[in-house]
Amino acid sequence: MASDASLPLLQVRGISKRYGSRVALREVSFDLWPGEVLAVVGESGSGKSTLLNAISARDKPDAGSVQYRTQDHGLQEVFLMTQAQQRLLARTDWGFVHQNPADGLRMDVSAGANVAERLMGLGARNYAHLRQTAAQWLDRVEIDTARIDDAPRTFSGGMRQRLQIARNLVTSPRLVFMDEPTSGLDVSVQARLLDLLRRLTHSMQLCAVIVTHDLAVARLLAHRMLVMQGGQVVEAGLTDQLLDDPQHPYTQLLVSSVLQP
Ligand code: ADP
Ligand code: MG
Repeated sequence: MASDASLPLLQVRGISKRYGSRVALREVSFDLWPGEVLAVVGESGSGKSTLLNAISARDKPDAGSVQYRTQDHGLQEVFLMTQAQQRLLARTDWGFVHQNPADGLRMDVSAGANVAERLMGLGARNYAHLRQTAAQWLDRVEIDTARIDDAPRTFSGGMRQRLQIARNLVTSPRLVFMDEPTSGLDVSVQARLLDLLRRLTHSMQLCAVIVTHDLAVARLLAHRMLVMQGGQVVEAGLTDQLLDDPQHPYTQLLVSSVLQP
């Protein structure tokens, strides 16, 4: 029953959050199914990061429920878990890729250690094996393995972001949260990173929630989309359908602003 495929991996119901008098999230609900990549799009300030932080148990909403289907116990309310349980999920089942790689990496320790650290968090101790796995992952994210002992501080922006992805995926998480993983990078660097993410999500059959203000990122990576405006989901649907035939005026505006030069 615990691994019942008829249950979503994540079930979000009516979550709301305000900062003082400002409403950051209003009654957001959705399900996320195994193997699905969901994009959350909307302009700056629409509540995307607040939503991502809430569903990844990083920041408690004021109201609503976030249930995660755990490996052993079926759907569990994440905000009723102990902090130790939440931390364990964050270390094992979940990954979180920050917009700014410095928030997700240890900038002064070696690239190899950045990748191996998550495995050590799961109890791996064999140095040769850790180093070999780290090297394999550097190669998988197209970082020259000769750089394994260099700190990410010496890496370019694109390399840092690829390293952050390796660090998150090395434990084969069931669910990865990403907040604007490609923004802040040059266009050609973005394209390479997007291509890498697309290949990894396909090959690992990753379940992911990707926050982006860039519809092209959603088009390339996501099966389904949520469109947010002012803290609310104004439209949701399959990516291709939603982008080809947007129904809500705000989505129409977003789509047409990309199509026009
Ligand atoms: P997005 O990620 O879509 O740009 P955010 O989720 O960061 O949007 O922000 C949603 C709204 O909540 C914005 O109006 C923002 O100013 C506000 N907000 C976000 N975080 C905080 C905070 N820590 N304190 C006060 N207001 C915040
Ligand atoms: Mg944001």
